[in-house]
Formats: sequence, structure tokens, C-alpha cells
Amino acid sequence: MAAARWDSENRRWQGLCLTWNLWYGCDYRCPYCAQEMFQVWEKHSREHLGISIARWLQSWQRLYERRGCAAIDVIGGEPLRYPGALELLGGLAQWHRLDISSNLSVPLEFLADLTARASPERMHLEGSYHPRSADWDEFIRKIAFLKSLGYEPEVRIVAWPPNLRDIKGKKDLLAQMGVRCFVLLFQGTYQEREYPRSYSDAERALLEDLIPGIEWGYCTQERPTLGKPCGAGHVYANIRANGEVFRCSRDDKNPRSMGNFLEEGFRLHEQPQPCPYPYCNACGEHIFLWEDWSKQAASLRGPAAGPATLIQSA
Ligand code: SF4
Repeated sequence: MAAARWDSENRRWQGLCLTWNLWYGCDYRCPYCAQEMFQVWEKHSREHLGISIARWLQSWQRLYERRGCAAIDVIGGEPLRYPGALELLGGLAQWHRLDISSNLSVPLEFLADLTARASPERMHLEGSYHPRSADWDEFIRKIAFLKSLGYEPEVRIVAWPPNLRDIKGKKDLLAQMGVRCFVLLFQGTYQEREYPRSYSDAERALLEDLIPGIEWGYCTQERPTLGKPCGAGHVYANIRANGEVFRCSRDDKNPRSMGNFLEEGFRLHEQPQPCPYPYCNACGEHIFLWEDWSKQAASLRGPAAGPATLIQSA
């Protein structure tokens, strides 16, 4: 069974990583959300089969027994609004490391209950701040609450053009609190212009300041990837709310399902496979291109945490 560990320098989990669209319900309707832009909320909701919590837990335990502790990016929809979220997420944290992306719209009491079920070593929360729907002061109170318990929450803000106005001030304020803030490139259409390639020079300069080391080559310049070996499908995969598994989010438009995670016979690829796409602008998933991923893994020295060992906090 492959060992896995948290690479704190690069802030990456060196082991199996999975992105899980837990469900497609959300109390916000942000105009830059992919589900909203492509108007697929209803379509995706219909595809959600209402899978029981017991079945999900059984499948995640099976993965743990086969591949060890994985880092699971739990996204949605809004994961913390999922019916039974406390039972499901608390159960999962027995085996895996959770990175939950949440708009933090749930009450503070809910966060208190959640944190009582999973320690900071097993759970990490990323608060997505959405200026059109969330009150900044209330959002910050929840971030401060999580930080006071040792969860080291992080904040994400999408660089949708109207969000750029006071984004630097917010990032600076969070830095004063000791909270890391990540600005995400907007991928989509705004005022009939395609992003990220349509950012102005001034916006690009601001983003280079806000996103140190940004890889414009893959994100906006469509650097070729066709045929390159990629670990997507091997050390990474994208699981949908109905259990279907895809190598990466580029498969959104060309569905190439690898099978269903809930089936006993489902397996990830045994090794990296060639990328089937001309270029990779799939939400930063280019990090799984094997030339980069294997170099990173090889450069790590020292003891690696086995699957049953608690991992370092983020
Ligand atoms: S390089 Fe990018 S698009 Fe190609 S398989 Fe890997 S993650 Fe997907």
C-alpha cells in the first residue's frame, strides 16, 4: 500500500487525492459558479441518486483498505448543507483526510458540532467568500472560530472581475489574522468575454501579486498536454454525486467515466495514462502531469506517514 504524507512546503498531499462533488444543492447562486454558468444545477440534481450515508461510508472504507489514507476535497454544491453531513463527514474522517470547501453559511453551532467529530489532523476547512451572498463580518467570525480551535482555515475568493475591487484589502486583513487567502482565477464568461484569457494587463499584474507563482502557461496560454503521461485517474480522480468517477474536470464536456466508485469492482488506473486533451486548464489539475508530480514525490525525504498514522496538520 503506498505511503502518503502532507508536504507542508508545497502544501500538497503526496498520496492519493480525490475531488468529490458530494451533491448539487447550494444555498447561494454565484454567477461565476460552473453549475450556474452552464445551468446544470437541475440536470446534476436529477443525476444525484440519493445514495445512503451507509453506502458511501462502506465505499470510502473499501478505498482505505485498498489504497490507504486519501486526501478528499469535498465540494458540491455546499457540502455542509448536505442532509446528514455531520454523520457522513465525521465517519469519513476515521480513514481519510478531508479538505472541505464551504461557503460557511451554516450556523456557528453547526461548525462546533462538526469540529467535535473530526480533529484538525483529519479535517481542514476552506471558507469560500462570496461577496454577493455573504456578510463579511459574519464570515470572518466563523473563520476566527475555526482558527481558535486549531483548524487553520483558509479562505478562497474567485477573481471574478467585480470581485477584484477590494480583494487585496481582504487578503491583507486575513494575513493579519494569520489566515491564508487564495485567489482563484475565474474561468468563464463575463460581459461576453472569456476568462482567464481576457484579464486586462492591470488585472493580470494584480493577480500576479495575489497569486504568487501563478502558472499562466497552463491556465491561460493553452500549453500542449496531449499524450503526456498524467496521474489523473491514478493518483487523482474526480468523483460525482452519483459515484461516477472521471480522471479530471476536463471530462465534464467529454464524459469518459472510469466506472462507479460505489461498485465493489471499481479500480483506479494502476499507472499514469496519456492525457487525451490538447491542453489542460482544468482547475489546476495540471499538477498531476507525471513529469511534475513524480518529481515532487521523489524530492520528498524522510519518513512518510502510513495510512493508519495521523498526518500533520495543514
Ligand atoms: S493533463 Fe490535465 S486535462 Fe490532461 S488528463 Fe491530466 S488533468 Fe486531465
